[in-house]
Amino acid sequence: MCFECNSTRLNRRSFVKLAGLGGAAAAFANFGLPTAAFASDAPAPTPDEALAKLVEGNRKFVTDAEACSANFSKRRTEVAKSQAPWAIVVTCSDSRVVPELVFGGVTLGEFFVARNAGNVIDTDVLGTIEYGAEHLHSPLVVVMGHKRCGAVSAACEVVTKGSKLDGSIGKMIQPILPIALAQADRGDKFIDNTVHANAVNGAERILAESEIVSRLVAEGKVKVVPAYYDLDSGAVEFMQKA
Ligand SMILES: [Zn+2]
Repeated sequence: MCFECNSTRLNRRSFVKLAGLGGAAAAFANFGLPTAAFASDAPAPTPDEALAKLVEGNRKFVTDAEACSANFSKRRTEVAKSQAPWAIVVTCSDSRVVPELVFGGVTLGEFFVARNAGNVIDTDVLGTIEYGAEHLHSPLVVVMGHKRCGAVSAACEVVTKGSKLDGSIGKMIQPILPIALAQADRGDKFIDNTVHANAVNGAERILAESEIVSRLVAEGKVKVVPAYYDLDSGAVEFMQKA
């Protein structure tokens, strides 16, 4: 896998470079090698450590982008002037659900992505989908929920325990509440069933609320597909096509 080899190769070099650096860069020593993910059992990184990791990652993207077969430098040049993404992916902001990785290391210029916690279809997401479908001619829209979704779990807790959520989170998950309510008597898979139903509902809402997308679907130019990503197995289950 290219990301793996990139990480391994750059790690060795970076150790030497880091020896002469102070501040945030030196703090990487506490977390292992700069291009590796932070260890799950390590203390949470400080904002500066996280920022330094972003800076280091981007430096490699810019200066050493051909470290593996993905050849980001070549691809970046190819798509710099225009894009033609072949799929629109609407999914959760969850850090474990990265569509470009989940779908096999898809590279630059392939996905048009809209993400928010709970993959809620709101005006911003609808506009994003319409732009991708109408103007960039993406033929496929995937609405992908995932196992153990925090936003969906929160909506389920509101339904079952009447919990109140602070700030904008309560408003954000409001569209999930009726979906959770409809699943509430369906036994021990309540949250998982709600994740599935939320993805299906999202696909249906796109068709119901977007004249542009529903027209493209009627013309056979676009399909809207709900999906479910299993965090444990890594498998994506595609549900019925709208
Ligand atoms: Zn989620």
